[in-house]
Amino acid sequence: MKMNRRDFVKATGTAAAVAMVGMPHLAFGAASKVVVVGGGTGGTTAAKYIKRIDPSIDVTIVEPNKTYLTSYFSNEVIAGERDMKSLEVGYDDVKKMGINVIFDSAEAIDGAAKTVKTAGGQTLAFDRCVVSPGVEFVYDKIEGYTPEVADKQMPHAWKAGPQTLLLKKQIEDMKDGGVVAIVAPPNPFRCPPGPYERASLIAHYLQKHKPKSKVVILDAKQKFSKQGLFVQAWEKFYGYGTPKALIEWRPGPDATVTKVDPATMTLTYGEVGEEMKADVINVIPPQRAGKIAQAAGLADDSGFCPVDGRSFESKKVPGIHVIGDACIAGAMPKSAYAANSQAKVCAAAVVALLKGGEIGVPAFVNTCYSLITPDWAISVAGVYKLGADGKIAEVPNSGGLTPMDASAEAHAREVQYAYSWYTNIVNDIFK
Ligand SMILES: Cc1cc2nc3c(=O)[nH]c(=O)nc-3n(C[C@H](O)[C@H](O)[C@H](O)COP(=O)(O)OP(=O)(O)OC[C@H]3O[C@@H](n4cnc5c(N)ncnc54)[C@H](O)[C@@H]3O)c2cc1C
Repeated sequence: MKMNRRDFVKATGTAAAVAMVGMPHLAFGAASKVVVVGGGTGGTTAAKYIKRIDPSIDVTIVEPNKTYLTSYFSNEVIAGERDMKSLEVGYDDVKKMGINVIFDSAEAIDGAAKTVKTAGGQTLAFDRCVVSPGVEFVYDKIEGYTPEVADKQMPHAWKAGPQTLLLKKQIEDMKDGGVVAIVAPPNPFRCPPGPYERASLIAHYLQKHKPKSKVVILDAKQKFSKQGLFVQAWEKFYGYGTPKALIEWRPGPDATVTKVDPATMTLTYGEVGEEMKADVINVIPPQRAGKIAQAAGLADDSGFCPVDGRSFESKKVPGIHVIGDACIAGAMPKSAYAANSQAKVCAAAVVALLKGGEIGVPAFVNTCYSLITPDWAISVAGVYKLGADGKIAEVPNSGGLTPMDASAEAHAREVQYAYSWYTNIVNDIFK
């Protein structure tokens, strides 16, 4: 069929009008509005890339803190290998990108009214909302553990901040011959290799300053990320498995901690309720999606948020996207690298949904480095893809671990890769 110009305009006009039904802001020429809740790793990446893909979109980040502290590399702070200041990053460059940053906390997200209400009393309208609030700690799974106990006596330090410095000080003040207990959480949780990297770097500190001391990991799990490589390095550097070991790992369920007593610095663990005293107790509690995700009805019974893996749009509340630690992303770990990778996929999808473009089938990347000494690091890398079943799975043979027979030079190089990854990701998110 041949079309003249008038028919063409009529046909495309109708199609455009149909396409506009879900996008009223386009019909009236107003800028599309995206509100990002949480200006951390996932949220700030999403804001930056939405603005970069389409500068006409009005992007606002809602974030309570004027300075973001990366939790990545905070284990080095605890072990005295880095200062806290080096983990700080502000929002000046983000603002220069034309992104609005409101230093406030989101209190409610209304998917039907398409508004975010803040603790400071503002109501922000959105066409699409991206939520990346990180994790919330579940205290009631361990009797006696409360936010107050965590703040004052048994820090989790699983979000960089004052607890990171408290844990560092407690270890510095501990007598030689003392015991540092690390309570490792059940899956899924933020940064799967993190507790074991922390144990390694604390052992490194103890070896130098208090060699009669040790770290005991009481784990809720029977295995952990990069276990073979960790154990190999612990044997090499920290006498693992010998009577003089600086690190001891006790697997679950026998070592699952059920109770803490801050008055006597005692942990109760396992089915029979064995007790152990320690001089420093670092309890990393079970986790779920950040509080605002729970309040907005975005989480399911697992505590995390189910999403469509193509766009990270919530399966529970349309128009709201959830990324980072808070979402359920199949085989991807809860890491900064994963949050950053998901944020870019989400940004492209949000722009496509607002402007009527196509959403592709995404692929993602993740690499996690762990330092065992300042000169010895290990890593795991993977490429992930959305499968036909709607689940994000690792692409077979796409990544891998540091080889078990890697040379000392190769491990030292991994330390440099880790530092360079840190610089690159912070620049990619915030600059
Ligand atoms: C010790 C440790 C070491 C780690 N090491 C690594 C590593 O080497 N590599 C790696 O890839 N990952 C690492 N991680 C994991 C990494 O920190 C997280 O996976 C990552 O930060 C997740 O990003 P996110 O955006 O989901 O959450 P976050 O980066 O935590 O950002 C969440 C933001 O949301 C804000 N927020 C929360 N609630 C609200 C609200 N109601 N309103 C507004 N804002 C809100 C918070 O203030 C915060 O800024 C480590 C984590 C820890 C604890």
